[in-house]
Amino acid sequence: MREQNGEKRKTNQCRAESNGIKTLPDHEIKTILRGADDLIMSGGRGMLAKILAGSKDKKLLELELDDSPVYGAFKGLTQKEILAKIDWMILHDFLDIDYDGRLPLLVFTDKGWEIERDTYTDELMDRLIEAAQHQLYEFVENLKDRNRGMIHLLLDKIAVSGKKDFITILKAWQIIEYKKVKAKIQEVIDILEQIERPLENDSDQDVLSFSANKKWLSNPVEIRKKLEGNVWCSSCRDAVQIENYVVKESPHGIILEGKCRKCGGAVARFIE
Ligand SMILES: [Zn+2]
Repeated sequence: MREQNGEKRKTNQCRAESNGIKTLPDHEIKTILRGADDLIMSGGRGMLAKILAGSKDKKLLELELDDSPVYGAFKGLTQKEILAKIDWMILHDFLDIDYDGRLPLLVFTDKGWEIERDTYTDELMDRLIEAAQHQLYEFVENLKDRNRGMIHLLLDKIAVSGKKDFITILKAWQIIEYKKVKAKIQEVIDILEQIERPLENDSDQDVLSFSANKKWLSNPVEIRKKLEGNVWCSSCRDAVQIENYVVKESPHGIILEGKCRKCGGAVARFIE
């Protein structure tokens, strides 16, 4: 296999060089890797080029590869131009070719998979939220028996997102999983349940805890405006306007934590 790969690399090197591609932008690298994901150990560079071109190839449609989010992403380019990009990816160790008998099939290299895993988990997060919104909990069946590293990355990202909207669908997912993944999902649910639900505000940077926010809003608007415009900034050594603030609960009142409009430094104001 190594020998074969060595030879193949050389062939691709000539090809890529003759096509004059020096480098590919990050978004194209991600696009090609995303396209390859549906072909790993099942298709080759020709089929990948067809997906990216948005081809109506009969076999492609049969395999429903037109469902790929990058189907047609390189529409307008010739098959030859797209193949040159794919070969650049192989030459630069993002993709590799493995052989099933004599059939050359695409595989990810570690470097390529690391990038694709990131792209793919972002996509899964969007699809999970959408499924949760439409109560299509059976979507979780798609997550079973998947690459473990990817599933862990997905769960870590969900935990970091702090979005409580994931909790119900995580519980549905938990039901069908094995012990280890089940436990990991529970950890994420616990994290999300501890997070206070953010409220909608003019700026999505404003995350207001519910009860602190209620106290804050119980002040008449002109009082709130006055307080917002009278926050001490230690850098400016002046009373300044606070912006992008969050309202936090404290034992004796609430605290506004935000930025100084003048210098951007951190400022806070306690309100009884
Ligand atoms: Zn300042």
